[in-house]
Amino acid sequence: MTRAAQAIIDLGALQHNLRKVRVAAPGRRVMAVIKANGYGHGIITVARALGDADAYAVACLDEAMSLREAGITQPIVLLEGFFSAAELPILVRENIVTVVHHHYQLEMLEQGGLNGALRVWIKVDSGMHRLGFAPEAVAAVWQRLQSCGGVSVIGFMSHLASADEPHDDTTRQQISRFNDALAALPGERSLANSAGILAWSATQNDWVRPGIMLYGVSPFAGQTGADLGLQPVMSLQSQLIAIHPRRRGERIGYGGDYVCPADMTVGVVAIGYGDGYPRHIRPGAPVLVNGRRAPLIARVSMDMLCVDLRDQAAARCGDSVSLWGPELPVEEVAAAAGTIPYELLCRVTARVRKQTR
Ligand SMILES: *Cc1c(COP(=O)(O)O)cnc(C)c1O
Repeated sequence: MTRAAQAIIDLGALQHNLRKVRVAAPGRRVMAVIKANGYGHGIITVARALGDADAYAVACLDEAMSLREAGITQPIVLLEGFFSAAELPILVRENIVTVVHHHYQLEMLEQGGLNGALRVWIKVDSGMHRLGFAPEAVAAVWQRLQSCGGVSVIGFMSHLASADEPHDDTTRQQISRFNDALAALPGERSLANSAGILAWSATQNDWVRPGIMLYGVSPFAGQTGADLGLQPVMSLQSQLIAIHPRRRGERIGYGGDYVCPADMTVGVVAIGYGDGYPRHIRPGAPVLVNGRRAPLIARVSMDMLCVDLRDQAAARCGDSVSLWGPELPVEEVAAAAGTIPYELLCRVTARVRKQTR
């Protein structure tokens, strides 16, 4: 190991957060959403830590296969379904459940040739208008799938567009469209993401699909995971690799954007946008040096960023730096970068070593 940039993944926190899901949605089955490399935490690591989940949900077959190749045998659901008929025999062989969200998928299934049982969820568009069959089309889709050899329908899934806004009427409308469309159809139901689980108990149904809350992060703006009793799973860390006294008026970093307002001490941290730290974060955003806040200064570069150490006379080269984690909520860093914590977590790059704890 040469470079200190690392993401520490707290397995106990993952398990704590899964227990919180069970408390928030008692009696419901849990489909743990671990797409996009487990929201950047490492899909295999996360799957193993969440072995108590009733199923895993990923975006696509490649993600599911990485789990199977690691020896993970639990049910896996493909949230975007399959993209070509060539995937179908693999889904059957690997016991992977798929979403069916579009007519082209239905037609592929009707062309048949499945030699085994394929289990599917029908995706309903209850108002997000991204994937899924219109509510009025769902009964006919269900009927056609009944006639496909080898296909069995588990039930119906839909996704919430605005559940993170507790006063938005969209969610209420989605709930009633979903329930009305399915009133006469048999099968299981799944509607809730993390925000649904926490803010809209009427969305919990048979299966809940938590993603971000499993990672200890809040789905709601202006609240942290800790505010919700969750424990942040990822700590993104590095270290100080240089400390320099600078004169008033000296410029720092690319473009010389930062002009020292006084004689001051500047620290250089070995982490940058090449590790997934957001380049467009606002100046002054917090970074923790030895557990204490120091403001970020100058442009974030690929491998480094700079901090103002005027309040940290004791800081030394090699000291530890935290970019986010339990002591510095990723929600706060995301807000300073004009994005959401989901994006920051997913964007941590392969160069950052992942360490479990
Ligand atoms: C990503 C995803 C989820 C999880 O959403 P969170 O907001 O992370 O809880 C649930 N369902 C579907 C269909 C998804 O794509």
